[in-house]
Amino acid sequence: MKLFDTADLRNVGLIGHGHCGKTTLAAALLFRSGAVNRLGRVEDGSTVTDFEPEEIERRISIGASLAHAEWNGARINILDLPGFGAFVHEARAALKVADAALCVVSGVSGIEVQTEKTWGYALEFRLPRAIVINKLDRERADFDRILAQVRERFGRGVAAVQIPIGSEAGFRGVIDLISMKAWTWAGEPGGPGREEPVPADLEEAARAARSALMESVAELDDTLMEHFFEHGELPEDEFLEGLHRGVREGRIVPVLAASALKGVGVDRLLDFVVTVLPAPHERDAARGTHPKTGAEVERPVAADAPLSMFVFKTIADPFAGRISLFRVMSGTVRADQVVHNFSRDHAEKLAGLGLLQGKELTKIQELRAGDLGAIAKLKDTGTGDTLGDPAHPVVYPAVPPPEGAMAFAIEPKTRGDDDKLSHALSRLIEEDPALHSSRDLQTHEMLLSGTGAVHIEVALARMKKKFGVDCVLHPPKVPYRETIRRRAEATARHKKQTGGHGQFAECRIAIEPRERGAGYEYVDKIFGGSISQGYRPAVDKGVQEAAQRGFLAGFPVSDLRVILLDGKEHTVDSSEMAFKIAGSMAFRECMQLAGATLLEPIMDVDIAAPDQYMGDIMGDLNSRRGRVQGMDSTGDGAQHIRARVPMAEMLTYAQILTSLTGGHGQFHMTLSHYDEVPAAVQQKIIAEAAKKRGADHA
Ligand code: GDP
Repeated sequence: MKLFDTADLRNVGLIGHGHCGKTTLAAALLFRSGAVNRLGRVEDGSTVTDFEPEEIERRISIGASLAHAEWNGARINILDLPGFGAFVHEARAALKVADAALCVVSGVSGIEVQTEKTWGYALEFRLPRAIVINKLDRERADFDRILAQVRERFGRGVAAVQIPIGSEAGFRGVIDLISMKAWTWAGEPGGPGREEPVPADLEEAARAARSALMESVAELDDTLMEHFFEHGELPEDEFLEGLHRGVREGRIVPVLAASALKGVGVDRLLDFVVTVLPAPHERDAARGTHPKTGAEVERPVAADAPLSMFVFKTIADPFAGRISLFRVMSGTVRADQVVHNFSRDHAEKLAGLGLLQGKELTKIQELRAGDLGAIAKLKDTGTGDTLGDPAHPVVYPAVPPPEGAMAFAIEPKTRGDDDKLSHALSRLIEEDPALHSSRDLQTHEMLLSGTGAVHIEVALARMKKKFGVDCVLHPPKVPYRETIRRRAEATARHKKQTGGHGQFAECRIAIEPRERGAGYEYVDKIFGGSISQGYRPAVDKGVQEAAQRGFLAGFPVSDLRVILLDGKEHTVDSSEMAFKIAGSMAFRECMQLAGATLLEPIMDVDIAAPDQYMGDIMGDLNSRRGRVQGMDSTGDGAQHIRARVPMAEMLTYAQILTSLTGGHGQFHMTLSHYDEVPAAVQQKIIAEAAKKRGADHA
């Protein structure tokens, strides 16, 4: 395998809404550059970057995948990122290691929900961005309409660097506005473009578009602007240099034209990536903290700097074991080197450094700053960890996975498969940190939570295929929470001093509400030594356990501060256990006084359906305590409704929407926030929980 210097690397993340053509585009880039000798198609499950059986079956990208292509002396690392609501969080985690985002937008439907979401992720990591308007071969595709739309939505910096030749079925080429050359593609998809003279009927349009591009460059600074207004154009070298700088700074967003399926524009896109998008060292130095002192640490993206690597994804392969995908943040990593895992503080021996082409790992001797690679079988390293030169510690901030929005009880089909299930679950969670498992404290069922029903269904299907554990899925449960409305104080004494070794502990605590989403906090405000230091954490533990068990209806109490105020201990009879019990008793007494209430998850729901169903959908949403936030129409005749609806009302929405729209509607939802449950609904939930407790105790 050839070695590449930092300056010859490009790391691009393909982002966009599901079905806009990212995987097809990745397949075309890989084939055209000669990285693979067969043009993969989503339809026959033969693409490099969608290789999981679940991805092939459902024809969607579930996880981020990595591939690489060589073009004009550079290695382009391509991250094909999921664009479906249930999996889009993977895109965020992977963009952390990209140096630019290529946002693919359908030339028919334009900007969609996940286009905006993933665009937001790219902004979060301050990534240079470019847009590919794809599917221009399709009926009703329209480059100008979509260009106007993205410009309106994403700002004045958006400027075409290409315009299409032909439209819909006749779309056959592009005019490159930088070189003012025309290229066309004919024959089987995947072949090279042929240079041609700019068609006469497009000369005028091309000149105008080039001038608009130049104006965007001129807007970068006053000197350029003055020159542009005086002469009507910029000198060629300043134009190119300015374009490069504007893209690097995220102030210019170039727009390209393509049909990934027909291979139109693909080699020009490769050229663009190599000549316009930045190399890793052209971006800011990597920033992290010292694992022991917390002091800020900065590492230049240079091959001769101390080694540091960031693990952005883990693949759990049932045969090859664990594969960790990483970026060399700084320095150079060599196969068989010993590195330190700073996040978990232990040494790791690297065996088998490699490049990933989808699922194929090819050995390589070394990788330099900025490169993306993979290592198999690390002992104890997970997604989000930082590894590196033991003498130069640093930890880079991990991208937190989304909270579980919906929980389902799961159970192995075969009795006695519990151990197999928990093994498979932990492997799966290693791979997808957005899955969370726990036990229901009341029913002792195993719970699996994720971003929604599709996420969990896919997780179960993968568990069956990868680890041979077949599970049944019980209806989803709403993860209610409990919280308090006001401050309360109480003292509790736990005392058993009759005969033998006694038990004694007394504590006084206060609880007070915290902001929604702020979680739990424990504050020790004891003056003097009424409870010795060693027992105080036991009070906290007791309170936390009681808070987990809930007060009103068995849901965890959250968003509160617990303050330890005072207490008493006994020289012989006090123990940690006694203080734990006293803590939990005091907590329950406080809860009686603190105005306990139930919180429920509210979902951001996005529903797309043809116009004629809008009235029925809105009416139905109203009956579900939903609040409509807005409506947009997309170019392809569909309407989008954005609404906030309590999760409890959305558990079977897939069936409802199908029957409302005769199968023409789609929706997805993500957790927005927690809100108080209306009083009447609360009473019902509390009564049901009491009934269940009664039944369990009977
Ligand atoms: P992704 O979800 O963004 O990865 O999209 P895919 O690459 O899976 O493509 C979704 C569907 O659109 C597939 O059926 C592709 O064959 C099709 N598709 C992708 N690109 C094009 C294109 O340029 N033209 C046409 N006509 N279809 C395309």
